[in-house]
Amino acid sequence: MRHVPIVRPQHPTAVQLLPGLNDILNSGTVTNNGPYVQKFEAALTDLLGVPTIVFSSGMAALVAMLRATGVVGVDVICPSFTFPATPHAIVLAGGRPKFVDVDPINLCLDNDAISSVEAGAVLGVDPYGICWQPPPNLAIPVLIDAAPSFGSMVADDPPVQRGLAQVFSFHATKPFSTMEGGALCTDDAEFLEIARRIRNFGQDASGDCPDIGFNGKMLEICALIGLKQLEDWQHRSYRRTELAVVLGAEMRRFTGLRAPAAPAGQAPIWTYRPVFVEPEFGVSRDEVIKGLHDRGIGARAYYCACHKLSCYADGTSLPVTERLAASVIALPVYDDMTDRDIAAIVNAFKEIRDEHH
Ligand SMILES: *Cc1c(COP(=O)(O)O)cnc(C)c1O
Repeated sequence: MRHVPIVRPQHPTAVQLLPGLNDILNSGTVTNNGPYVQKFEAALTDLLGVPTIVFSSGMAALVAMLRATGVVGVDVICPSFTFPATPHAIVLAGGRPKFVDVDPINLCLDNDAISSVEAGAVLGVDPYGICWQPPPNLAIPVLIDAAPSFGSMVADDPPVQRGLAQVFSFHATKPFSTMEGGALCTDDAEFLEIARRIRNFGQDASGDCPDIGFNGKMLEICALIGLKQLEDWQHRSYRRTELAVVLGAEMRRFTGLRAPAAPAGQAPIWTYRPVFVEPEFGVSRDEVIKGLHDRGIGARAYYCACHKLSCYADGTSLPVTERLAASVIALPVYDDMTDRDIAAIVNAFKEIRDEHH
């Protein structure tokens, strides 16, 4: 049986890392904004075209972004159809998540619904790497949880001009991995300085703390991995995008499986390939996932409906989110996926469907 795991993280080899690792260990500078972190930040700034700083995780970067915006006691709009880190970051930064429904086609925040909600900020999400396009001229700060979308392109460019600031994740399960890691980018120099302080306990150069911060610093070893990853990232991200398009087209051939296409002009990096199991498929979503697992195919019921998690449940109803969360399957995508991996996924779906008919 062919095993197709839900993620297949790619990292440089030990031999490739050895010179840098020796350098880091011999220098004694293993963290605290060392030379590898600075080089990695310069490379990311160059790649994205917007000043970028790195963090110990995407979550740390999210909390710093929200603290720097100043959301203490503030209602912050966010989708519920996301990874729980999104609303958790709002709460940990002192704000209150205000869950809003999503668009069933592009899976992003429903822009029409936003305008009717009173809030002091909005934290949109790029689900599976699909880039949320905020409505123009919003009167509140626009922040983006772009954790899954590092590498996504809109009109052939990284979409980094969508709001006040945005955050990426470099976790091992994401397309671009530093094992643990994250980044924040913004065009606002003052905002960047505040986020930088928050990353380092809120301290400034004099040792005073104008802000309350935490330890969100990236290790030198992680920055070294990131720098190595950038060397063939363009090739890998292109390949990944192509393979995800093939997988999506294969899924669309099944009656009762819905695989939303990328919005026009977008090339998402596809952190997983979402498919929605409609009643016409004839097998329930949970049975499909079980059937996939039985056949060695990694698949997750992901995203969930965050407003239904026990820490948030308050009776709120978001019909689109609930329908999507009950029917979604996240399928694996990797940049070294082979035709045989894709064939194994397609065959598993065929067997599951035929078994129940
Ligand atoms: C992965 C992810 C995060 C968390 O990033 P980490 O680097 O794992 O902390 C946050 N939000 C979303 C939408 C994610 O997919």
